[in-house]
Amino acid sequence: MSRQISAPRGTRDLLPPDTAAWSHVEAVARDLARRYAFERIDIPLFERVELFARGLGESSDAVEKEMFRVSGARGGSEEGAEWALRPEPTAGIVRAYLEHGMHVRPGPLRLTLIGPMFRYDRPQAGRYRQFSQWDVEVLGDPGPAIDAELVELASRFYREVGLSGVVAKVNSIGDAACRPPYRQALVDHFTPHIDRLSDDSRRRLAVNPLRVLDDKELDPELAATAPRSADHLCDACREHFDRVRGLLEALGVPYEIDHRLVRGLDYYTRTAFEFVVAGREGQQRALGGGGRYDGLAEMLGGRPTPGIGFGLGLDRTIIALDEQGVAPPSGGPLVAVVGFEDDHADRLRVAEALRDAGLAVRPDGTNRKLGKQLEAASKAGATWAAIVGEELRDGRIGLKNLATGEQESVALSEAAARIGG
Ligand code: AMP
Repeated sequence: MSRQISAPRGTRDLLPPDTAAWSHVEAVARDLARRYAFERIDIPLFERVELFARGLGESSDAVEKEMFRVSGARGGSEEGAEWALRPEPTAGIVRAYLEHGMHVRPGPLRLTLIGPMFRYDRPQAGRYRQFSQWDVEVLGDPGPAIDAELVELASRFYREVGLSGVVAKVNSIGDAACRPPYRQALVDHFTPHIDRLSDDSRRRLAVNPLRVLDDKELDPELAATAPRSADHLCDACREHFDRVRGLLEALGVPYEIDHRLVRGLDYYTRTAFEFVVAGREGQQRALGGGGRYDGLAEMLGGRPTPGIGFGLGLDRTIIALDEQGVAPPSGGPLVAVVGFEDDHADRLRVAEALRDAGLAVRPDGTNRKLGKQLEAASKAGATWAAIVGEELRDGRIGLKNLATGEQESVALSEAAARIGG
């Protein structure tokens, strides 16, 4: 016998019945995207490495440590190109926006995508090499109203999927005017204590000192005394941040200011936010995050275009739902169609009629005894059995409630109404 092949490390097979939770969470995301007037966009799962290097920043973890590189077919003329599976969708969406001249469409554009992202990290609980996000991006809107709208939308997503204890953390990390002096203030703060920093932080201090703040191993005293970006904002950024906060308060969206929230990617400006769930520790606490990236379009060679978006991790949302014991809503009644030997044409016809009426139906394709078919139907989660027999000639079937055991003869045309929806 040959050796069995298993799924690659850091990936997961999503199997029924667990996939019901996925369908629920994705349905909530799709419904919210509709209610908030986002339009669907789809982009490739892989892009040129250069797009991520330029967009996300060479010093970001996603580029420096976690890039999932792929090579093309051997011998292809594009062999020289370097590709990577997308670690996040924003850079690709902005690339598509520029490439297709989407700025000519009436804006601001509100775009949404659900799909897999890839990061070549060391796999652990809640951290996978392939995971899914619900992503929204708004291009051409400088805010601040949209900033508040997106924080409200993400908060509503967590509420509508059924999670409790999710906290929105908000910060402003300034822009091209006020970030350089703030970076310098951080360098000045940390440099005298460089021996107390982790290896990662020492390296980051040189290339991206903001990232020292989100080092989980940062000495608490050094963290507490570190300069805060909110105190170093230029007038325009401070006003923007004040207005975002005022809007969140007007909307009654609970949030906390987190001075250490800097987000991992270089393209963020001004508003940054993240959602964490109470009762979990470490990085896996983060369920989703986002922020403003007003400089990204230019970094990718386009005209200046303000942008803001978020990526909510679906894997961790589902883990948190499971931990909180939240079951997905049941999918409605399931009808098994059972019958007697070799009446499969009748069974399939009855199944079709019930499906025409909108029901979920699984016909039994065997010639087992009726009792065995009913047993299998219950085990498979069916709540009703449509029993096909002689009376079908008069347009009638037996309808058995598998929970109560009650059975009656009903006209096929009435069965769906009897079962209800
Ligand atoms: P980030 O852009 O890194 O803040 O990611 C946004 C969200 O995606 C996170 O809050 C997580 O929920 C999710 N996420 C990021 N990386 C992973 C991963 N390796 N495995 C599972 N979920 C992830």
